[in-house]
Amino acid sequence: MGRIAPQPGIMEIALYQGGASTLPGRSDVLKLSSNENPRGAPPSAMAAVTEAAARLHRYPPTDHADLRAAIGEAHGLDPERIICGAGSDEVFVFLVQSYAGPGDEILHTEHGFSLYPILAHSVGATPVSVPERDRVVDVDALLAGVTERTRIVFLTNPGNPTATRLPDAEVARLAEGLPESCLLILDGAYAEYAEGYDGGAALAESRPNVVMTRTFSKIYGLGGLRIGWGYGAPEVIDVLNRVRAPFNLSGVQLAAAEAAVRDRDWVAAERAANARNRARLAGALAQLGLPSDPSETNFILPRFADAAEAEACEAHLRGAGILVRKVAGYGLPQCLRITVGTDADCDRVIAAIRDWREGTA
Ligand code: PMP
Repeated sequence: MGRIAPQPGIMEIALYQGGASTLPGRSDVLKLSSNENPRGAPPSAMAAVTEAAARLHRYPPTDHADLRAAIGEAHGLDPERIICGAGSDEVFVFLVQSYAGPGDEILHTEHGFSLYPILAHSVGATPVSVPERDRVVDVDALLAGVTERTRIVFLTNPGNPTATRLPDAEVARLAEGLPESCLLILDGAYAEYAEGYDGGAALAESRPNVVMTRTFSKIYGLGGLRIGWGYGAPEVIDVLNRVRAPFNLSGVQLAAAEAAVRDRDWVAAERAANARNRARLAGALAQLGLPSDPSETNFILPRFADAAEAEACEAHLRGAGILVRKVAGYGLPQCLRITVGTDADCDRVIAAIRDWREGTA
């Protein structure tokens, strides 16, 4: 009898390196490294959490019917085609577990979300990274990367960390070009921040091999609670529900998400505040010689002269108590990813970068 051993592929996974959220000896840390909502959770969701806490001794509903109905109403979608998970992360787990296995390939783009290759390895599949063109997804390259082993294609749209958005016509061209045996996952974690974008809902409705995923972690300010959802063909949702643990979401999670998604005025105000501050932050940094592509998300990706300059700026910001994200691991060593904060947060990060520029000029 041999010793216990993990499944093939597991040891290929590099442990996820989450960014720090504190700095030793500092109480004034400004965290702009995880694309969270800088104004926090909606008050409506906080109230729902307090109310749901009275039922902590009860198991939660397993079918998530109320939350699915609320999401359906808010987005004009069929609740029967919705599945909810502990973050969109868990919805990806259901999808990868259900549709890929040893010997299969899972495509993602060069600068795509770091969880995709981890999930591919977790089921013994091979992650395949496809180049982007100037930080924008290249549909021709993705289609050329498809082989008879490809089971899943992940598309982050708008992108993280690129912040750019692939136009609807290009997403449709990708969906049309894929074999029907290949699942297209449209990861719309930042969809609410993109003007006039449905996150891929219409495509997911019309094509049986397209699934859209969304999250409560970004614009809804509920990253700490872990809630996300997916939208796809009834046959796909049925498959995912078979692998989902019955009590995967707590009553507190369900109540908070339902209140947040019904709070349309709050969401609209958050979108407007983000757009205003994003323009101000990107404009100020461009004036300091740090241009960025037009962002359709709640972060920007300023470009530096080279990797060393990006590192030096990150270190200066850390010294000033400001955490931003290094993205060398995403193939973008000459960039930093900076979350759009509140008015005061933007003032502070702009002032710190100006200081750094003046110090190095
Ligand atoms: N997709 C992208 C592109 C993300 O950036 C993130 C969070 N960083 C997620 C998915 C996962 O979000 P959730 O919190 O819903 O698991």
